[in-house]
Amino acid sequence: MNGIGVDIGGTNTKLIVMSSGKKVLREDRFDTAPERGPEDFIRRLAAAVKKLKDEWAPVSIGVGAAGDVDPDLGVIRFSPNLDRWRGLAVKRPLEKRAGLPCVLENDANMAAWGAYEMELGRKYRNVVAVTLGTGIGGGIIIDGKLYHGANGSAGELGHNKLSRSGPRCHCGGKGCMEASCGSYAIMREARAAIKDRKAFVARYADPGRPRLNTVCLTRAADRGDRTALRIWREMGESLGRGLADMLLMLNPDCVVLTGGVSKASRHFLGPLKKVFAAQQMKTSFLCVDLVVARNADLGVCGAALLGLENAKRGGKAG
Ligand SMILES: [Zn+2]
Repeated sequence: MNGIGVDIGGTNTKLIVMSSGKKVLREDRFDTAPERGPEDFIRRLAAAVKKLKDEWAPVSIGVGAAGDVDPDLGVIRFSPNLDRWRGLAVKRPLEKRAGLPCVLENDANMAAWGAYEMELGRKYRNVVAVTLGTGIGGGIIIDGKLYHGANGSAGELGHNKLSRSGPRCHCGGKGCMEASCGSYAIMREARAAIKDRKAFVARYADPGRPRLNTVCLTRAADRGDRTALRIWREMGESLGRGLADMLLMLNPDCVVLTGGVSKASRHFLGPLKKVFAAQQMKTSFLCVDLVVARNADLGVCGAALLGLENAKRGGKAG
């Protein structure tokens, strides 16, 4: 059995065909071009899906999208990355045009499902996946099922408040975990702390990409740069405090870290674990496994696999 997975990003929309044996059979992408409007986007998405359908005979579609998503209605309530689209129905129009059952989730939930199936092989029942990128997303799996909460908004771990007067967050608030641990926050700190930025970039950045970014900051830490090591240590401590709250609340078997920033885990996991070790209520911290995901495409793979799971459970196009 094959399923189609879709990841709607602000720049590109990625599609894959995946077998139920978790093999990627085909990859495709097109420009999301949100400025062309939501109706035009749905038309182009349906055309791309149909093209794959003719060739691979899939039984399902799973779609992940950045932003605030209602999985029950299959609607993107709001997406700041997609030209601030509001109330965009995805599930119904896609089912109608492609004739396949469709599930829609927030992209962090899809990454959580991808991690649950591909990284962890369903070995754990209760999993929290934390997506560490520009911002911080979260997906919660309880007893083998994605947890949505009342209206699909569960898992917004990035906006957990670490302090009332901390740095400004993209959400407009202050002191969110994301405002200390998202890549924009890490780089804000790096720009303030690195005195000779030009020399730093010349020394540590990729030769073909002379920019101060998290890759450059990771390499600096690899080579023992004290400022870089300090920034990653403080990031790990903040992440540890934010995740400690979540562990006390949910007591998961496993926490998976995904996303580009997780590639620096060798510099921030130690400080994070120290925060866990210092907790007073120890039970949740003693049993949890911390895993850094290896697969970079968990979002779109998770979308395909959740679509297949939905079809297996009897989901129908309608
Ligand atoms: Zn926030």
